[in-house]
Amino acid sequence: MKLEGLSILGQARVKPAGKPNAAINPATGAVIGPDYFWSTTADVDAAAELAAEAFVEFSRWHGKRREGFLKRIAELLEANAAAIVERANQETGLPVARMQGELARTCFQMRQYGEAAASGLCAGARIDHADPNRKPLPKPDLRSMMLPLGPVVVFSASNFPLAYSVAGGDTASAFAAGCPVIVKPHQGHLGTSEIIGLLVQQAARECQAPAGIFSMLYGAGRDVGIALVKHPLVKAVGFTGSRSGGRALMDAAASRPEPIPVYAEMGSINPVFFLSGVMNQKPEELAAGLHGSVTLGVGQFCTNPGLIFVERGSGAKVFLQKLESLIAATAPGTMLTADLCAAYRAGVEKFSQASGVKRLALASADLGPGKAQGGAALFATDAETFLKNHHLMDEVFGPSTLVVQCSSREQILEAAKRLEGQLTATLHGLPEELDANRELLEILATKAGRLVFNGFPTGVEVAHAMTHGGPYPATSDGRSTSVGTRAVDRFLRPVSYQNFPDAALPDELKDSNPLKLARLLNGKLILP
Ligand code: NAP
Repeated sequence: MKLEGLSILGQARVKPAGKPNAAINPATGAVIGPDYFWSTTADVDAAAELAAEAFVEFSRWHGKRREGFLKRIAELLEANAAAIVERANQETGLPVARMQGELARTCFQMRQYGEAAASGLCAGARIDHADPNRKPLPKPDLRSMMLPLGPVVVFSASNFPLAYSVAGGDTASAFAAGCPVIVKPHQGHLGTSEIIGLLVQQAARECQAPAGIFSMLYGAGRDVGIALVKHPLVKAVGFTGSRSGGRALMDAAASRPEPIPVYAEMGSINPVFFLSGVMNQKPEELAAGLHGSVTLGVGQFCTNPGLIFVERGSGAKVFLQKLESLIAATAPGTMLTADLCAAYRAGVEKFSQASGVKRLALASADLGPGKAQGGAALFATDAETFLKNHHLMDEVFGPSTLVVQCSSREQILEAAKRLEGQLTATLHGLPEELDANRELLEILATKAGRLVFNGFPTGVEVAHAMTHGGPYPATSDGRSTSVGTRAVDRFLRPVSYQNFPDAALPDELKDSNPLKLARLLNGKLILP
């Protein structure tokens, strides 16, 4: 496949008038061609108009047909796996094996969300029959289902160049919902985005989808991105990235004459609590498990455990010594981009200078020009310092973690209450310790979207029951998830039909159930 650095506008490829930019190999600093041309507001208008036009037809597609489109995307990604993996590896420094695994996950996700659309899971059809004899007033016939919102803008994530990028979870869930997508690719993997964008375009063509079902505009977030979010024809936004970026999009969306939802997944430090019983039993094993999770993927996961709570004692002492030696010996890894690496190094420096915080270990890394390497870091503090310094909850995106040593259970509870919203919270303990720590669990359930027991937060399963979300600032809307089939719900809204003749109802709500969907009939779930 020949890469040309062009944006995608429906079935066309366009060379925007904006400035050219090239991809950079973060392992060497070398430029990788071709040049990518930044889009302009004229391109934004064209993409939004095309998407709104496509929505009229695409929103009428049954779930089965949407599933066919998603499946075809997955097939094309698989057929082009070698080219995708090679380019993603060059642009992000992520190892080939990781890219292969992530591609498999991306395809699985496409198919799973497609199945959810076909099975009726996303339609959520409900029927309440009329009761003309009800006293004092007759009951109307009411039927409801979830309908797509309209064109969705997706901001790709830097840290998942496949699974949360051009054909990633946000795009898959918007398509499964019946919404056209306009992608604003991440600058960290321009060529990977082009390859995948062209495959989505091909799938759309083969499935005879309306042209504007998919567009992709290269450009800077602050102009093209904001212009997309503010465009009156755009109806929702999906985003993964920094808190400041997500917040800027939330504010832009809220200031529109017609505000729209922004589903932003932002920073999280994913606290891990170790209870003393389990800590005294196997401190070295826990340290090894935590080290693996902190340093996985050079720490560049939104579920990276950046904050650890332990109760002082002999077990915690051994745990810290072991963790210190493991972190110090961690081999350096290439980070996704030079900017991200600079932000990581600045975060490590800030924690190194923080009063009351001790740097226990900093692994070596090549800091030379063109080398975006991050060395793993371990910090420790006491609960008093943590409770007094809100900034110790700032995300340091990379392989760094802070251990807070507490002197009592009360201090642990106090610290838990101070936490901001998180994607995950983890508890390590013996089963017999759980009863005595019920209050801690109850607090954590108010703070995080996913609670993990005796495990580590990295590794997010794509599943029906997955919640990858959490109260602000982990996400912009703690009622949502960006992973798992519930992610589709973000791009749907309920509509009720009252007293409509059967023939005028959508197929999903007709008495004969022609699509054979599971439906809630007079309050009872009826399977086809
Ligand atoms: P980012 O800076 O938030 O950028 C993500 C996307 O949002 C890019 O397309 C960017 O456009 C756009 N954007 C950023 N700020 C914007 C603004 N003010 N207005 C409009 N658009 C804006 O995230 P990143 O590049 O992936 O990484 C930077 C930092 O984000 C990391 O150091 C880390 O702290 C955090 N991060 C967190 C997670 C997580 O899941 N928790 C994941 C990745 C990154 P441009 O193309 O112009 O940059």
